[in-house]
Amino acid sequence: MYIISRQKQEKNHSMEQGSTSVPPHVLVFPFPVQSHVNVMLNLAEIFSISGFQITFLIPDHIQTGPRFDQISLRFARYPAFYFQAISDGLPLDHPRTGDRVKELFDSINVTTKPQFRNVLKSRALSSNSRAPLTCIIADGIMSFTIDIAQNFGIPTVLFRPFSATCFWTLFCVPKLIQAGELPLKEDSDMDRLVENIPGMERVLRVRDLPSFCRVEDAADPQLQHVVSETHRATGAHSLILNTLEDLEEPALARIRANFPKLYVIGPLHGYFRPLWSPNSLNEQHRSCIEWLDDQPLKSVVFVSFGNMTVLKSQQLVEFWYGLVNSGKPFLWVVPANLTAGCRIPTELIEGSGKSGKVVDWAPQEEVLSHPATGGFLTHGGWNSTLESIYEGVPMICWPFYADQQVNSRLVEEVWRVGVDMKDICDRKTVEKAVRELMEVRREEFLKSSKDIARLARKSISEGGSSYANLDCLIKDIKHMNYANST
Ligand code: UDP
Repeated sequence: MYIISRQKQEKNHSMEQGSTSVPPHVLVFPFPVQSHVNVMLNLAEIFSISGFQITFLIPDHIQTGPRFDQISLRFARYPAFYFQAISDGLPLDHPRTGDRVKELFDSINVTTKPQFRNVLKSRALSSNSRAPLTCIIADGIMSFTIDIAQNFGIPTVLFRPFSATCFWTLFCVPKLIQAGELPLKEDSDMDRLVENIPGMERVLRVRDLPSFCRVEDAADPQLQHVVSETHRATGAHSLILNTLEDLEEPALARIRANFPKLYVIGPLHGYFRPLWSPNSLNEQHRSCIEWLDDQPLKSVVFVSFGNMTVLKSQQLVEFWYGLVNSGKPFLWVVPANLTAGCRIPTELIEGSGKSGKVVDWAPQEEVLSHPATGGFLTHGGWNSTLESIYEGVPMICWPFYADQQVNSRLVEEVWRVGVDMKDICDRKTVEKAVRELMEVRREEFLKSSKDIARLARKSISEGGSSYANLDCLIKDIKHMNYANST
């Protein structure tokens, strides 16, 4: 709906303006992993529909990967949309998984940073009838963009595709260190409530802090990196968060006090939701949907741990037994990254039998919106969490890294839309969690999931807070463009 009304709005606007006004040109620069690229593609598409020129810096491993054809087809309809490849410095087939993210941070620093400077220095961006850059929208974990772009007189807007609560938690880490709540000690009580994150005093336990905080040295380079990136965001022109006021109000109120120019515009995928077409799926992925078509209403547990989780062979087996023993039908995505090259247990390949289907990728948004899907066993990645919330599907969360520890706590304790299975994955716990989700507390979870889905849908509809903020962002970029050209 949003997309259609924006298309109409833009058509009227350009008819009024005639063809003389030069549109804004935005350089979009995602962190080089699939989920960050996906969500920034959504934002970039909204800008394209708004008449902007877009240069999208696409990581070369994604541009040469199996799903780029579909991406390229999707954007072929926008003549002012350009992909420009950039390297993260790692070999194309190198695993970009959560357990190895430090390698990515390091190689971005060595390789991508100078490449980015060269992109701005070269005239390539303003050739091919592209206008000079109006602004850069970069992933918030790459704050080096702020200083480099400033040297070229270009403002940087940072986009952090994490939950606001995780962003706020990372922002408060120096305070936690000062108060002696971090670093952890060998005998730290992981169930103690954390005291020094304003607004979260009754919510977050030590075990719910972002995975980067699970260190016994405050100078841990990865922790220091994510915390300093979060603080450096204050130097950006503004900050975009893919969430909504009703979900994360306590964190957002406090972030706003430090970032007066904050655009809260999510859930971004929802703007496209009514437009997606089952015909865009290939044969293999259509088979998931056909399988779901044969299952009873709200009976299936969809299992997916995203693109960056790695499980040990034994953990795969425990999840598998838990699911099979629960007796519920399940659709499980087991991509190559999940097993990190280890042997996939034969039980899983051969033994899923009638009740389970195992695939290497699934059209997740479509699966979550399918009437047969009744629950989602997820790692609690922010995109997966938002997609599940939007479809009103209750969750079991087994967080792996980054913001997932925070998100899974919000799922259970704040929104009450599921079970947090953090730090445990034996077959009994998995089975119990599945039964709670699908039988014991089913009505309770379905009700709160429905309520929260309504809020998410409202926020991106006309009159909703995210809808209004997105309009504001688009107007502000147009204004930057106008100010640059006069
Ligand atoms: N996804 C998908 N199909 C799959 C696995 C993942 O479409 O089989 C998409 C999913 O819809 C979500 C993203 O990949 O948009 C995963 O993002 P998230 O932030 O949840 O996790 P990450 O991959 O960053 O760990």
